[in-house]
Amino acid sequence: MSLSLSEKALAVKPSSTLAITAKAKELKAQGLDVVGFGAGEPDFNTPENICNAGIKAIQEGFTKYTPASGINELKQAISEKFKKFNNIDYKPNQIVISNGGKHSLTNVFEAILNPGDEVIIPAPYWLSYPEIVKLAGGVAVFVRGEKEQGYKVSAKQLKEATTSKTKAIVLNTPSNPTGMIYTEAELKEIGDYAVENDVYIVADEMYEYLVYNGEKHVSIASLGEEIYKRTITVSGLAKSYSMTGWRIGYTGSSEEIAKLMGSIQSHQTSNPNSIAQKAALEALTGDQTAVNMMLNEFDKRRKYMYDRINKMPYLSALEPLGAFYMFVDVEGILDKEYKGEKIGSAAKMASVLIEDYNVAVVPCADFGFDDHIRLSYAISIEQIDKGLTRIEKFLSELK
Ligand code: PLP
Repeated sequence: MSLSLSEKALAVKPSSTLAITAKAKELKAQGLDVVGFGAGEPDFNTPENICNAGIKAIQEGFTKYTPASGINELKQAISEKFKKFNNIDYKPNQIVISNGGKHSLTNVFEAILNPGDEVIIPAPYWLSYPEIVKLAGGVAVFVRGEKEQGYKVSAKQLKEATTSKTKAIVLNTPSNPTGMIYTEAELKEIGDYAVENDVYIVADEMYEYLVYNGEKHVSIASLGEEIYKRTITVSGLAKSYSMTGWRIGYTGSSEEIAKLMGSIQSHQTSNPNSIAQKAALEALTGDQTAVNMMLNEFDKRRKYMYDRINKMPYLSALEPLGAFYMFVDVEGILDKEYKGEKIGSAAKMASVLIEDYNVAVVPCADFGFDDHIRLSYAISIEQIDKGLTRIEKFLSELK
């Protein structure tokens, strides 16, 4: 058979984080005691009040199609949350509710990109951005935020990477994988750059509730009318409410873009799950105790991990101020040998750790930094302790 396949689809890399999580699960299923630092999701159950709202939705027969871009009550609740938490004014008709943040991002790029349009993605980046951009016909352009810059990029760097084809920039704060957050002053400069160069800002604020040390999450769309007009704000319920499996994400944008995304969604997936929408409504409007409990737990784990990592030989990490990841610089071990073989790359380190120490970590070549690994602290302190002890043992074997 000589039938060809889609070149766009063939150019997409499968998600390596999902692959690592799957590998860790597989080894666990074989009875091995695996510590998984790969998880991009909280280890807590979805809070009970949220689950109950889902159960109630089923019992009340709220199990049919809803409007394609989501139910009005939930849009209203999201609009209020945008006002109160983000200081942004998005009316319900500027909001589109989708099947998770990934789906929201897919809609965004499909709505704004024409073939060949460039999207500037600051590295390190969440590995799905370049693939989603490619699938929407765009071209990903990378700008590096070095460790000395807190892994963040400046407006000046964005300007230097801008061409006549630049359509948008991606801005992820708090960041996956680095845990860094942009300050208001940094965001204002980037916002001004976007206005001067007339580019869209795709602001991924998925981890907006998970911010530590008394720091404050700032939404770039709140920093002025012209910035607001060019920004599409993306968020979701997965990370803050431990609702990863429910698949609810959403966007705030201009009415025009919201209409386009609603129309795309109406053909591609129709509405997000009706039951999950009712659960999301409870999440946003109900008791927030569980969210605060999770935040406090993450904070304890974050401090514990940060302390221990920086006491280890060869490794170092900046203190993450948001999300639940630590971005660990492993450059110091790349020239070392393990069992007579040079380590050479973070990917090799990750494969030794899983094979010989039953510890899953994410090597970050697919995040744009091949001499770093990402450790998630969305697992219990006991697991973190066990995993870090194994990593220490591995480091002690290096020559
Ligand atoms: N944005 C970032 C930065 C993420 O890390 C993730 C998930 O890992 C998402 C968006 C998508 O979240 P979901 O599709 O689970 O709602």
